[in-house]
Amino acid sequence: MDWLKDFAGRIEADAPLSRLTWFRLGGPARCLFHPHDADALAGALRRGREESVPVNVLGCGANILVRDDGFDGVVVRLDEPAFREVSVEGESVRAGGGVDMMPLSRGLSAKGLSGLEPMAGIPSSIGGAVRMNAGGRYGEIADVVEKVAVMNRDGSVEEWSREQAGFGYRRSAVGDRVVLWARFKLKEDDPRQVSQTYDEIFDQKMETQPLGDASAGCIFKNPPDASAGALIDKAGLKGATCGGASVSHRHANFIVTRQGATASDVLRLIDLIRETVRERWGTELETEIEIW
Ligand SMILES: Cc1cc2nc3c(=O)[nH]c(=O)nc-3n(C[C@H](O)[C@H](O)[C@H](O)COP(=O)(O)OP(=O)(O)OC[C@H]3O[C@@H](n4cnc5c(N)ncnc54)[C@H](O)[C@@H]3O)c2cc1C
Repeated sequence: MDWLKDFAGRIEADAPLSRLTWFRLGGPARCLFHPHDADALAGALRRGREESVPVNVLGCGANILVRDDGFDGVVVRLDEPAFREVSVEGESVRAGGGVDMMPLSRGLSAKGLSGLEPMAGIPSSIGGAVRMNAGGRYGEIADVVEKVAVMNRDGSVEEWSREQAGFGYRRSAVGDRVVLWARFKLKEDDPRQVSQTYDEIFDQKMETQPLGDASAGCIFKNPPDASAGALIDKAGLKGATCGGASVSHRHANFIVTRQGATASDVLRLIDLIRETVRERWGTELETEIEIW
């Protein structure tokens, strides 16, 4: 993939992805590319398409399972300063696609800017959060998005309103585009109050989810009118294990892994859960995580 050298940015060959994902397992990427700026990103996306090489974007790796034989293509990380800018103007905040969501939402809460508290305890980049419409019972990112800039695979850039971003339950219209930045409309409030709300949501997450373990958050989407975790729990699957991967005792929709676990262990456990839930409840579970 010598053609990547035509574009400004760092290139790592055969780069282990296990260190960049929350599951901490899986094989390497043929190339890991850190574009210097939007022009370099546009060039790599265009060229990848011409060369028929898959190009995937990796955020914080909190919703991804990389297979053991790795990813035979280019993985792009938006970790250069051009993608990590944050600007605050009154109640309007613009953040680059590569910005880490948790410190941002904590910092804004401490300043008394309210709206991103529901992101407490959700490991994510801005790009990943927008693409997945990250959130939960306290709200989702779509609630405060005002504008999103996305780059198409031909390198062209579009600015979308919230409506154009097509948000739904854990989904958006982003598809294979790259989120360059998002602008949020927040509300000024009492900093102590907003921080307290942030902390309460974070504490609640710590109590109910295994945030200290290697996982990728919820494995399955909730089916209509049901909780995937409750279906898995009531099927008696808490603690079920394949190799180094187990269904969490704390939250049945989380698979946690111990050192030495492989992606195949996780995939076998996903199949086991699906089959058991299908047989027991007649419900087909759809994965929320992405498998590379
Ligand atoms: C402990 C734990 C708890 C979690 N709790 C929650 C929760 O409560 N609610 C929730 O919704 N999720 C939760 N998750 C899942 C995860 O945090 C979210 O899905 C998060 O938004 C993923 O963001 P990311 O940057 O890690 O994306 P990644 O996992 O790196 O990627 C996910 C998808 O987004 C794409 N992507 C990443 N960056 C960009 C970009 N700039 N432009 C376009 N596409 C991009 C990737 O290509 C991929 O398709 C949890 C995960 C963990 C590990």
